[in-house]
Parts: sequence; structure tokens; C-alpha cells
Amino acid sequence: MKNARLKRMIKSIVDFILLPVCPICNCPVDETNMVCAHCFKELHFITKPYCQKCGKPFEFDIKGDGVCAGCLKKNPPYRMARSVLVYNEGVKKLVLPFKHADRTDLTGVLCQFLLKEYKSLIMDADVIIPVPLHITRLFLRRYNQSALLAHRLAKVTHRRFEPSVLKRTRATPSQGHMNTKQRELNVHKAFAISNPKKIENKKVLLIDDVMTTGATVCECSKVLLKAGASHVDVLTLCRVKH
Ligand SMILES: [Zn+2]
Ligand SMILES: [Zn+2]
Repeated sequence: MKNARLKRMIKSIVDFILLPVCPICNCPVDETNMVCAHCFKELHFITKPYCQKCGKPFEFDIKGDGVCAGCLKKNPPYRMARSVLVYNEGVKKLVLPFKHADRTDLTGVLCQFLLKEYKSLIMDADVIIPVPLHITRLFLRRYNQSALLAHRLAKVTHRRFEPSVLKRTRATPSQGHMNTKQRELNVHKAFAISNPKKIENKKVLLIDDVMTTGATVCECSKVLLKAGASHVDVLTLCRVKH
């Protein structure tokens, strides 16, 4: 308790000295890792009703077990997938610089969103694993944005962070303009496990920044389960609303 109070005190002093700004528009804000009210209004948080399996937001509450048509048809291998935000113009102002413009300083604010909404899901995991980049893309981009999120989440919640268990074995073309079927083919057999002992009988939480059709997280989950994970949950910062 004393420790928490001390941390809060230090944070207030640091904020006073550093004059924190909104990470999107640079206007002054009260605390570090805080988005200003104007930018916050552009973020669309996903709330119920949504598909109990893949987390896809529903326009209307539906009766029954609350699973979307896509999940009924395909039954994704993960236990559940959840996302904090709808992928819209507002969140792009955070995600695109984080992913492509070296704005690794955004890790803190993005993890705060994930922790605020899904702390219990994160705490439930034994092992936290990021969706990996292929070595060539990692070399060009210099960092894996999903690994930054997974590392920070694991550190805060005292879970095990395993960035090298799941590997991307072939460089897959960017999926920007692909449809569902093309994405499934694109990631088919693109992942492998390097050290199955680290996930055997473990509850795995897979972290990614954006979920689009779910093809990547489904393929990763399949490989993790085959290697012995007891279950796989998926947590992404945002998802495309189809
Ligand atoms: Zn702002
Ligand atoms: Zn679904």
C-alpha cells in the first residue's frame, strides 16, 4: 500500500516536471500516458453485446449462446478473442505510428487500455506470447509492436513472457488488401513452435495489435494447441468491424 502511494507521488512529481502531452495531438494533459478528451472521443470502445467467441461487436443483442455466424461455421481454435477498440480513424492515429513510425513510447498508453478492460483475462494466463514477425520484417521494422505490448502486460501482471516460443517460419506478404480466404492461405503453415515444453499444459494468452479476419490468430492458436497448450485466449488492442 505504502509502495503504491509512493509510486503515485513519484508519478505526480514526474508529470509536474515533464508537462505531459496527449500522445496523439500533443496538447497538454494531466498525466503521462493519457489521451486528451478530444482524441478520446474518437476512440470507439467495444462493449457488449459481442460474439462470446471472437469478440465481434453485434449491432443488436442476440438470443442463445451469443456466437456470431462466422464462429458457428468455423469454430475458431482459441477459447476466446477479445479486443478493446474498434479499428477506426481515431485508433489509427495511435496504432499506425506505433507500428510503422518508431513510436514505441505509445506502448504505455496502449497497455493501459488493455489492462483497464481485460486485466482478469491477462491475469488468467500462465504464459503471454506475441504474434511474431518474420525475421526479415523484424529486421526492417527493428521491433515487433505486439511483442512490446505483450512484454509490458506480462511485466505489470507478473506473467511469463515468451517471445520466442512461437516463430514465423516464412515471410508472408502483407495482408492489407486480402480477403478472408486469401488471408487464411497466406498464413497457412507460416508458424512453428521452437520449445514446446514452455507451453505444455499452460494457459496461453496471444497478443496482437490489430485483428482483421482472425486468420493469423487462428493459425497461431492451432499451432500452440497442437504443441500442448491447455488453451489459447487472444487479446488484441483493436479489431476491424466487418
Ligand atoms: Zn489529443
Ligand atoms: Zn464470432
